Amino acid sequence: MPQHLHLHMLKIANPPVNEPLHLSELQGELEVTIKREDRIHPDVSGNKFRKLKYNLIRAKKEGHASLLTFGGAFSNHLAAVAAAGQQCGFQTHAIVRGEELKDSPLNPTLAYCKRLGMELHFVSRSLYRHKEKALSELSISPSDFYVIPEGGTNALAVEGCREILTKTDTDFDTIAVAVGTGGTMAGLIQSVADHQQVVGFQVVKDIEIPRRIRTFATHKRWTLVPTHDQVGYAKTPKALIDFAVKVADQTGVVLDPLYTAPMVWHLTKKWKENKWSFGNRILIIHTGGYQSIAGVNQRLEEQKSSLRWPL
Ligand SMILES: *Cc1c(COP(=O)(O)O)cnc(C)c1O
Repeated sequence: MPQHLHLHMLKIANPPVNEPLHLSELQGELEVTIKREDRIHPDVSGNKFRKLKYNLIRAKKEGHASLLTFGGAFSNHLAAVAAAGQQCGFQTHAIVRGEELKDSPLNPTLAYCKRLGMELHFVSRSLYRHKEKALSELSISPSDFYVIPEGGTNALAVEGCREILTKTDTDFDTIAVAVGTGGTMAGLIQSVADHQQVVGFQVVKDIEIPRRIRTFATHKRWTLVPTHDQVGYAKTPKALIDFAVKVADQTGVVLDPLYTAPMVWHLTKKWKENKWSFGNRILIIHTGGYQSIAGVNQRLEEQKSSLRWPL
C-alpha cells in the first residue's frame, strides 16, 4: 500500500489466531474452533475492518475528504466508520435511523461516534427507508462524499472479507458466521475450498440477503439459518445473556449481543437438539462487535434489570 495514502491504520498488527472453543454444551464428536477476528484491530472491530479496508483505499485514491454512511443507533458499522475515518484522516457523516434520538441523550454508540468527530444526521424511520429522499431533505449531496452503504456491504467489502480465511483453514469442513447484510458471508463463500461449506446465522429479517449474497458469490455450498425470531437489535433475552455469561466463564471468550452470541447460541441449541446437519469440524468466525455491549448494559440498567452482558 503506498505510504502517501496515510492508511497505516489499515495494516493488521496481529493476524487473527484460531483457538479451540471448549464449551461444555458442545461436547461429542464436534470440534469447534474460533477465529479471533475480533482482535485484529483495537478500534475497528473484526469484519468491519475487512469491509472498510478497500473502500478507504479507494476513497483516498479518488481524493475524497469525507465519508457518508447510514446506520441504526447501536450500529457497529457506524462506530467502525467513525474510528477508521478519524484514523485515516476523513471527515465522517452518518444518516441515523430514528428522528426521536435527536432529543434524548446519545447512547454509548452514538456518543462514541460523535466524540470521534462523526456528524450525525437523524431521520425518521420511514424516511430512512428512502435514502435518496432523506439526503435531499437534509440538503446533502452524495457526490460530495465517498458513500458507504448501510452495513458497509459492497464489492470492495466482499473483497476484504475474502482475506479472513487462510490456507490452513482448509482443515475445517464448516465455517460459521453471523449475518447482518451478508457481505462478510459472501467474502467467506468466495474464499472457501470445495470441500467446505459456509453456514450463516441470520440475525435480522431481510429478504434481500440471499439475493445479495448471490450477486457477490458464486460458490454453491452455503446455507442461511434464521435466528431473528428470538433475538435482534432491540431484544436481548435473558437466556441469551445467561449463555454469554456461561461462554465467558468457561472459555474466556466474550461474544457480542447482536451477532456472535446469537450465532453460537443457535449453533449450540441445534447441536443439543440433534439438529446440527452440517460438518463436525467447525470454524466459528468471531466478527467482533464489542462496542454495542455498553449500550445493551445501559438499557438493562434503565429497565432495572440485574442482568449484565459480560465484558
Ligand atoms: C456487522 C457485523 C456482522 C454482520 O456483517 P454483514 O457483513 O453485514 O453480514 C457480524 N458480526 C458483527 C460483530 C458485526 O458487527
